[in-house]
Amino acid sequence: MELGEELTIGGARQAYFNQNQPRSRFLFQCSSPECRALKVVPKITAVNYYIHPTEKARVKSPHYKDNEHYDHHAECEWMLPDEDEGSDAPLPGETELQTRTRLAKRQLTSVIDIFVPPTQPEQPVVRPPRAAPGDEDEAGAIRRRGGGGAEGTRSDRKHRSGDLRELVDYYHDTREALKDLFPEVTINVTGRGEIPLRSYFKKVAWARPDTAGYVYNGGGRIEPREGAGFVFNFYDKVADKDASLQVSDEVMTQHRSRRYVNELLDQARLVRYFTFYFLGTFTYHEASDTMVAQVTDLRCLAIDLGPLRS
Ligand SMILES: [Zn+2]
Repeated sequence: MELGEELTIGGARQAYFNQNQPRSRFLFQCSSPECRALKVVPKITAVNYYIHPTEKARVKSPHYKDNEHYDHHAECEWMLPDEDEGSDAPLPGETELQTRTRLAKRQLTSVIDIFVPPTQPEQPVVRPPRAAPGDEDEAGAIRRRGGGGAEGTRSDRKHRSGDLRELVDYYHDTREALKDLFPEVTINVTGRGEIPLRSYFKKVAWARPDTAGYVYNGGGRIEPREGAGFVFNFYDKVADKDASLQVSDEVMTQHRSRRYVNELLDQARLVRYFTFYFLGTFTYHEASDTMVAQVTDLRCLAIDLGPLRS
């Protein structure tokens, strides 16, 4: 409410940490057009967006939750049944393993079906036009066509995200909750198609030079910083060479999430290591005889804090 913006939970976390200290938490309201027209717009609870992702806090990834003290409009998506209508029976064409996986995913607080890497142009989010009074039939027709037919609206029952931070949370939640079914979970990555979620994430140790299309991840430390930018050294080698990730001064002074990233990097003395996740490539750098990945868009980077130093 304070920002007057519609935010994903990842966007809310970023906006929270972009504030100067002392930071204040935000109020959240339902964003569905039906609920926004109500006299009392229902509040939504945002869980854990004001804490940093650490390995310990992972079980409770940030998510939005219905606030039971408020009533939503009957047509609001919070009131809609699940896509599979709560059925435990196999859907047409589903294998037994797929049914078990679908049912197991219900215990997750959020699901991402489609991931649009920040480097891919995102489909604009088009909202259905607000219904004028006495214009109910038309509004109903628009709803039945699926929210104006635009991809990416929330009435599109596939859950789409372009937020790497949310994808990383989803990856860890799913791996933890689904256990032996985790290899069955797939995700549609724009530009790649439907792939196992597991195979989209690759340890830095297994990275191949000049190869994009993965969320590379690995632990390491940042070098003492001189300017606004930074260098992160991975513990693991890439193709037998020392590997680092570099973000230039220019990127760190221009990008809107720089404060959020700085806030995380400032914890370097408190934690034993960071885990970095990024979309990009490692390229051989001859002068230093190392593998270097450059991140020019901070949306392609997510950082977990490692355990605290004792
Ligand atoms: Zn609502």
